[in-house]
Amino acid sequence: MVVQTDGANKRGTPATAKASLIKDINTAAVLGIVREQEMVSRADIAKTCGLTPATVSSIVSDLLELGIVRETGSGTSSGGRKPTMIALNERAWGAIGLDLGPRQIHAGIVDLHGKAVHDEIVPLPADRSEAAILGLMDQVTDRLLKWAASRSMRMVGLGIGAHGLVDPNAGVSLYAPAFQWKQVAVREWFNDRYELPVMVDNDARAMAAGEKWFGAAQQAESFVFLNVGTGIGSGIYLNGQLLYGAHFGAGEIGHIPISDDSQEICYCGKRGCLSTFASGPALEKRARIAVRQGADSLLEQLSAGKPERITGQLIHQAAMQGDELAVRLLRETGEHIGSALAMMVNVVNPDMILIGGGVSEAGEFLFHPIRETVRKEAMAVNTERLSIMPGQLGAVCGVVGAATLLLQEVFAQPKTYLTRGGTLI
Ligand SMILES: [Zn+2]
Repeated sequence: MVVQTDGANKRGTPATAKASLIKDINTAAVLGIVREQEMVSRADIAKTCGLTPATVSSIVSDLLELGIVRETGSGTSSGGRKPTMIALNERAWGAIGLDLGPRQIHAGIVDLHGKAVHDEIVPLPADRSEAAILGLMDQVTDRLLKWAASRSMRMVGLGIGAHGLVDPNAGVSLYAPAFQWKQVAVREWFNDRYELPVMVDNDARAMAAGEKWFGAAQQAESFVFLNVGTGIGSGIYLNGQLLYGAHFGAGEIGHIPISDDSQEICYCGKRGCLSTFASGPALEKRARIAVRQGADSLLEQLSAGKPERITGQLIHQAAMQGDELAVRLLRETGEHIGSALAMMVNVVNPDMILIGGGVSEAGEFLFHPIRETVRKEAMAVNTERLSIMPGQLGAVCGVVGAATLLLQEVFAQPKTYLTRGGTLI
């Protein structure tokens, strides 16, 4: 959207405030075109967004000064001098992304094209208190800021995707089951330590935002990102908007009941939740029980006779070697996920479902039964044009997603975010 200045003051808003708002909107529009087209001339920007060449030149000058775009090479001329092309200055600025899972922190630096240029995985300590985990996140953040500074890359801020229920407006982890956290003020902790804008959201929602801005869902208006790892969660975009719900609990697909007669109580307190059937730990648990009960399976050899060593990767490895138990466990996992997704498909009617997280690395052993079950159980009208596939951001989805919480704000309001710079207190 661009806004022409003619008649902009009709509603009586003070002229300078209105002019500044209009300039902000037009600046975001110009930056959006540079981002989408990768390399573009000032004249083509003006044509695409319908602004005057003088307005575009002025905005591009501002963006050059902020360092978010750069001049690069010359384009083809339609007569006269070849135009100078404008591109994103993708490594001048970036954002830190911290993906706080139940077992580890995956952290990294993400550039303006949504590429994780550096990342590290830090296992969590046995002490899951606020001080221990937030302290560890601090140390990781310090290391990342040093890495960025040594490469003259400025940070626009810090994004955190945390498992569990999160209030992104307050920056508070409302409930993180793996840590037994309740009402932990994560943003405040970081605000006390860094002069950087900090944003916090649920991990699966952040991943969905990452896929929307930089991954497979850039053209999708209504889609679901399903994260299947230590837990199961989802981020839902409906008609271009990320869904939060009245109390930030939208997308909790891991707690859809799959079975009435399950004996296993989920951490949410209910029985029969999808998470207790299809998460990474649930898959590993079922494999360990089968092997202990004497199932004839390659998993026994692969785990050197120690079933407690069976991991999701080992199950995938066994499946690739044709192991019947491993193939069956992955098929059952896919069928359970498919049943829950079929309900979601009938309620939300997405045109795309992206699946990420550790368990999704099992590929077609999982995707094939998921697709079959969704097509069998959801309404045909809702599945005919539905694609179900892996996310594009892969193993760094959580990091890119967390950084996207900031990057999407930078593209919407570049001046607000780029004039601060990442300074360590
Ligand atoms: Zn549950």
